[in-house]
Amino acid sequence: MNPFANIKARFQLPSGMIYLDGNSLGPVIKGVEKTAARVIEAEWGQKLIGAWNGADWINLPSRVGDQIAPLIGAQPGSVMVGDSLSIKVYQAVAAALRQRPERRVILSDTGNFPTDLYITSGLLSRLGNDYELKLVAPAAIADSLDESVAAMLLTEVDYRTGRRHDMAELTSRAHAVGALALWDLAHSAGAFPVQVSESRVDFAFGCTYKYLNGGPGAPGFIYVSPDLIDEIDPALCGWMGHEAPFEFSTAYRSAGGTGRMRVGTPPVIAMSILETALEIWQGVNLELVREQSVLLSEAFIERVESECSDLLLVSPRNPDQRGSQVSFSHPQGYAVMQALIDQAVVGDFREPDIIRFGFTPLYLDLEEVIQAADILAAIVNENSWDQARFKNRGLVT
Ligand SMILES: *Cc1c(COP(=O)(O)O)cnc(C)c1O
Repeated sequence: MNPFANIKARFQLPSGMIYLDGNSLGPVIKGVEKTAARVIEAEWGQKLIGAWNGADWINLPSRVGDQIAPLIGAQPGSVMVGDSLSIKVYQAVAAALRQRPERRVILSDTGNFPTDLYITSGLLSRLGNDYELKLVAPAAIADSLDESVAAMLLTEVDYRTGRRHDMAELTSRAHAVGALALWDLAHSAGAFPVQVSESRVDFAFGCTYKYLNGGPGAPGFIYVSPDLIDEIDPALCGWMGHEAPFEFSTAYRSAGGTGRMRVGTPPVIAMSILETALEIWQGVNLELVREQSVLLSEAFIERVESECSDLLLVSPRNPDQRGSQVSFSHPQGYAVMQALIDQAVVGDFREPDIIRFGFTPLYLDLEEVIQAADILAAIVNENSWDQARFKNRGLVT
């Protein structure tokens, strides 16, 4: 029995498709098109500029932040929505460096997502030659923390392998050497319970188009510990993060609290869609989501391995060390995934040879997972991926 059957009915899923890519782009939640129509017709259309006050557009970023807060174990008022996750990484790293002006190292791991690393290197290269982005193997993070480290920058769940760091433990190890702990929750928020406050995380950030189903390009979010927020000096001093934007003063004064993490004018239509999409989480028990995610992913691994010996599990075998995705490797992974998609089972491919499957219990049943495993095993066992049409690469893999 799927404990989330009622919630599944609220998703708009193409019939016949088994969707195992909600870790990349969540599906449409029914009703968001009505929200978009309302914002366009009744608010933008009828109220025009008056909607900033009249429809409270101006407070959307903090209002939506308050919807995300309980999903990541954050206090109300400590999460701000806006911009893309890449921008939120920049804000957090820049703020963390200002908090530790005598230190020069940002510590991260080789499994981190490229944008987190690129954004950080770009920032450090502008600060001078003595700054360093130090990358070590994921398992070597704890031992690489020392008093040169200003901030530890990690993504909790590895986007390729699904390997999950111990957030509470590594945060406390970082604090023990005086470093700040910065966590990317792209593959955590909405996937399982997260406890940023209890784990004493300093900064956390994520996107909302993956497990939170906000739609393509939906805005990112940032959490700043309430113990820190009033001390931090924002690097992106946009007018919306000013204490009084409509004073139009020539000098920047940061807003109090999380307001200072705002930058410019929010994308009102996209953010309104996100606000509606997040309503689905009301009353959802994230512990149960996690339990069901483990059940689905364990069933998938067991079925694939029992039917097919040519796929190698690259995710940790112990579910406690995984997020909500499972990855296998195959030398022709790209073609295998294309052949799978051709049969309406959608996952994705990551270089060099990884096929990746996301488990999203709110709209995925056990029967679908078993069926997907059977189709995958047949494609590999029968070499039906070995066709020219499955080897053409699109711009997006
Ligand atoms: C998806 C993802 C991103 C994407 O960043 P955008 O700015 O939203 O494009 C960044 N970091 C991680 C870890 C991701 O998984």
